[in-house]
Amino acid sequence: MITIHVCDENRKVNKDFKCAKSLLVSQMKFFELHLSGSGSFEDIDISVHCDVGVFESLMLFLNSGTSEYILEVSNVISILISSEYLQMERLVDDCLQFIVNHINEVVNLSIDMACISPKLMRKLASLIDVQKLDEISDRRDKLLSRIYTNKVEAMMDDETNHLSRCIYCDRLFAESQRSVAVCEKADIFIDFHGNVLAEHLADCNWDFKKFVSYLNSQGLGSREIYWKIWSRLIMFDCVDCGECFQGAELEHCSYHPLEAKFTIGSNIGVYQCCQEQAVRFDTSIKKQGCTAHRHSVCPEQTQSTEYEVLIKKLPTTAEPFLEDSTSALARYVKQFVVTQEVVLCSEDEVSPVTSQYNTDESDCSDEELKARKGKKSKSKVNPAKQRAWKLDLLRLKDFEAMKDLSAKLISRRRRKDVKVRTTKPNVSMVARRRS
Ligand SMILES: [Zn+2]
Ligand SMILES: [Zn+2]
Ligand SMILES: [Zn+2]
Repeated sequence: MITIHVCDENRKVNKDFKCAKSLLVSQMKFFELHLSGSGSFEDIDISVHCDVGVFESLMLFLNSGTSEYILEVSNVISILISSEYLQMERLVDDCLQFIVNHINEVVNLSIDMACISPKLMRKLASLIDVQKLDEISDRRDKLLSRIYTNKVEAMMDDETNHLSRCIYCDRLFAESQRSVAVCEKADIFIDFHGNVLAEHLADCNWDFKKFVSYLNSQGLGSREIYWKIWSRLIMFDCVDCGECFQGAELEHCSYHPLEAKFTIGSNIGVYQCCQEQAVRFDTSIKKQGCTAHRHSVCPEQTQSTEYEVLIKKLPTTAEPFLEDSTSALARYVKQFVVTQEVVLCSEDEVSPVTSQYNTDESDCSDEELKARKGKKSKSKVNPAKQRAWKLDLLRLKDFEAMKDLSAKLISRRRRKDVKVRTTKPNVSMVARRRS
């Protein structure tokens, strides 16, 4: 048995607690190291300076194995801090879950929450889902900003959340959305099943993390950044236009309010609303109209949490249909690309880097060569060149598929030929025998 002498310095309260060593060591990892050398039946006095009431709660948890009777809104932060210090993992998790469940009461406490460690804040943020996040009302900003900062950081750590920029249309998309989203500015490809494909093409110079930092430098807070990114990661289906769209583009179900006018005998006409060209029999991807209304989201999807939260968050998340709006993320994307291209051009102009590689490398040491090669691989790709290269790659893909298909056909034909050749002699043999 171990005696723990707890002394509360502020209130001058002392109290002794007794606890079995095995229990103390297994539940409070902090003591594991300190008590590892002592014998199992020894009486040891430990002096702890902390709030007696909090320590009493910790001992209650130790003896009962549950946090159900000790956690209250008024003491949860103190218990959380103490249990983290004493390395009581299970109690830490219980406290965090309790805070999540009572977050609006906890943020109203008049205590300083800056003492919550970054590690605990990360864990707390990970336990808060979008619905809960939307419900938090933290007027004095005790926790909310830190929660959003951690949410954005967690988003950046998970590559499935990374948004790429399409080099054709400038829109942001996640890799998982590439096959379902339609890029109306992409070159159209028709696959072997006759499907018309127009996919976004990711800019290989794009750095999502740098873009998020750029948004921050432009005065967007973590909260705004989080919702703007989140709304681009969720997808819905429209029953009107058949499009699969990002939450941020909920109001982008586009159309032309006035019908197109065609001259007799011509397939080409103009929409009377915007004078845009219209094609009578257009088999390509549907082009954007000049006006938009809200997509008619598929009824099952309107019951989802994502949709409910999206509707509440529309003032922050909705991407305006017309790009020149100041709150449009597309505007930041364009600005960011310009800043990146300035860097790119200046890198291109700094030919010493390039010419350095053209110098005779036989004089260089191995380390120097390695360093040069490292620099070489890090150099950026000119977007114009990427476009050409990617297009070639796409053509190459078609070419490879075609080559593969014709190879299969040839091998099939050959197999047939072999069959014919092997059957023919048999026929003649039979014929010979008969004769
Ligand atoms: Zn695109
Ligand atoms: Zn639609
Ligand atoms: Zn129009």
